[in-house]
Amino acid sequence: MGCKCLVYSKTHFNREVSLNEPYERLVQSLKSLPGLGYRSAEKIALYLLVEKPERAKELTQRITLADEVLGPCRICGNLTDADECKICSSDERESNRLCVVESVTDLFAMEKAGVFHGKYHILMGKLSPVRGIGSDQLNISSLIKRIDEGEIEEVILALSNDMEGEATCHYLKNEVLKDDNLKVTRIGFGLPSGGGITYADENTLQNALQSRKTFDL
Ligand SMILES: [Zn+2]
Repeated sequence: MGCKCLVYSKTHFNREVSLNEPYERLVQSLKSLPGLGYRSAEKIALYLLVEKPERAKELTQRITLADEVLGPCRICGNLTDADECKICSSDERESNRLCVVESVTDLFAMEKAGVFHGKYHILMGKLSPVRGIGSDQLNISSLIKRIDEGEIEEVILALSNDMEGEATCHYLKNEVLKDDNLKVTRIGFGLPSGGGITYADENTLQNALQSRKTFDL
């Protein structure tokens, strides 16, 4: 009985798998993805290799294509297949209001909730001395450029309400958003502590945005 089932049976699993380097490497790569532990990584690997090998080919092609054609918008940092993303190039968005978020996933969450009609700027993280992330690692120089262009009247800081988010807001207000004519507000009130925007539901995001307050130092 030389079927594949034996290779993955409990009795033979560890011995067989340890000899199978391509498999082990695939599991390790999957395990390194956000939200996946070793067991989930194994489950996906076996699904793709044993149960649905055609899905493995499709997935490989789609990842390769997305990686080739998608990149950051030169203005805001959003994921796009063009030089500028659809939000930045839209005439229907309010170009005098700018919402500063930490990540593309936060932007997606805001867009999905449909609660904001201005434009965005993605910081690509937040200040974190512990993790060695300083202002140079964040998407700040292009934010300065956008502010200098003078069209923006309000900057909404939509960063998480943890210590790092707080420190980042203070840095931005102190160093980047100093102009007295610029209205700087902050949301985050009502958001789950440390959870940020990504996991907030539509109502929470709407309340957080509507109840935004002037951010003073
Ligand atoms: Zn953009």
